[in-house]
Amino acid sequence: MEPPAALSSPKTESLLAQCIHCGLCLPACPTYAVLQSETDSPRGRIQLMAAAAQGRIDLDGAFRTHIDLCLGCRACETACPSGVQYGSLLEAARAGIEEKRKIGQPERIVRRLALRELMPNKQRLRLLARGLVFYQRLGISKAIEALGVLPPRLRSLEALLPPLAAVFPNYSVPAPAMGKRRGRVAFLYGCVQDAFLGNVNAASIRVLQRNGYEVHFPQTQTCCGAAALHVGENDLALDLARRNIDAIELKRYDAIISNAGGCGATLKEYGRLLANDPAYAQRAQDFAAKVQDISEFLAVRLHATPTGRIDARVTYADSCHLRHVQHVVNQPRRLLQQIPGIELIEMAEPGKCCGSAGVYNIIHSETADLVLDAKMADIRNTGAEIIVTTNTGCHMQYIYGVKRAGLNMRVVHLVELLDWSYANHDATDGTF
Ligand code: SF4
Ligand code: SF4
Repeated sequence: MEPPAALSSPKTESLLAQCIHCGLCLPACPTYAVLQSETDSPRGRIQLMAAAAQGRIDLDGAFRTHIDLCLGCRACETACPSGVQYGSLLEAARAGIEEKRKIGQPERIVRRLALRELMPNKQRLRLLARGLVFYQRLGISKAIEALGVLPPRLRSLEALLPPLAAVFPNYSVPAPAMGKRRGRVAFLYGCVQDAFLGNVNAASIRVLQRNGYEVHFPQTQTCCGAAALHVGENDLALDLARRNIDAIELKRYDAIISNAGGCGATLKEYGRLLANDPAYAQRAQDFAAKVQDISEFLAVRLHATPTGRIDARVTYADSCHLRHVQHVVNQPRRLLQQIPGIELIEMAEPGKCCGSAGVYNIIHSETADLVLDAKMADIRNTGAEIIVTTNTGCHMQYIYGVKRAGLNMRVVHLVELLDWSYANHDATDGTF
C-alpha cells in the first residue's frame, strides 16, 4: 500500500518515533475515558498512524474512524513525558486522509459553503445570525423541533445555537483608550464569535479600553483557519493565515488580541504552518509572536482595578487550546480572583475537554454528548452558579450542556465578568 505523503515524511516519522508507548497519556484522554478502547486513546492512534505511515494499513475504515473521533484537544501533549507533538501528528493524519479520500459532491458543496464562502465572510455570517434570530424569536425552531423534520447533523447544529441577540460591535473605527493611554492593540474578532456571541467581543473591547488601550480592527482580517485545519483542508488554512498576516501592520501594535482559545492557538501556530513558505515564513513567526489571548494580555496589564462586587460562585472551564496548546492556565484564574465577591471553585478535572472541538459536536454528536455529560457531572459537583469560558465553541457547548443537564447556571466569557464588575462598580448589593 502506498502511504500518503502527508504521513510518510521524514519529519512525521521522527515525530512518531518519539512515542515510547508508556500510556501515561491515557487518563488525560476524554475519548478514551468515554469509549474505553485503546484505538480511541492517544497511544492507540499514534500506533495506527505509524502503521499507515509504513503502508501496513489503509486510511479508510478503522484508521479514519479512530482519527475522526479524536477531539484534537491535545490534553495528551500536556500529559506526555516524552514530548510527543500529537497536534502535528493529528494534522498530518488528517491531511493524509484528505489526500487519499474521494469526497462526494454533497460534502464538497457543504464544505465549500461553510469554510470558503461563509466563515471567512463577516457580512454573510452576520446575515445568517440575523436570520436565526427571527428563527428563534418567532418560535419556528420549536415548531421544527416538534415536527422532527431536521436531518441529524442540522438537529445537532440547531441544539447548539445559543439564544441569539444579534449584537454586532462597530469595527469600522478604532475604539479609543479610556483614561491614561497605555498602548494600541489589534483585535481579531473571529467569525462565529462575531456573529453568534457579539456581546463577548463588545465586552472585550470595553475592558481593553478601560485599561488604557486603543483597540483597532484591521479591516481585511478573516477567519483564523482553525476549522479548515480541523477537517484536513490545510491549503485553505494556509491561505487564511496569509490573509491575516497581510491584514496587520505589526509595528503599529503592542499586541494582536484574540479572545477565543481555539483561534488564538491557531494564530500562534502560523510560524510553524508557514515555515516552508519563503515569502511568509519570517512574517508568520513575527505575527505569531505578537498574538496574545486577552486573559494573558490583561493578567499583566489590568491597570484599572475591577471594584464592582459580583457575589457568585464560579468555576473556570479551561479551553483545551488555551490550556494545552497556548499553556495559558493561571492568568484567567488570577483575573477572576481580582473581582470582588467572586469565589472560584475548581473542577476535579479542569483539563478535560467539553466535547465541542470545532465541528466535532455536530459531526460526532453522540460521542460529543458522552464527553459533555462527563464534563457537566464534574461541573455540577463544584456547586458553582456560573461557568466561565474563554473560547467560542466551549461557550456554546456549555450553554447546550446546562440545558441538557437541567442545571440552573449561567455561561459567560471571563471578560464579561470583568466588564460587569467595571460597570457595576457603584453597586453595593453585588447583583449583576
Ligand atoms: S487530542 Fe484529546 S481526544 Fe485526541 S488523543 Fe489526545 S487527549 Fe485524546
Ligand atoms: S504519547 Fe507520550 S504519554 Fe502517550 S504513550 Fe506515547 S510517549 Fe507515552
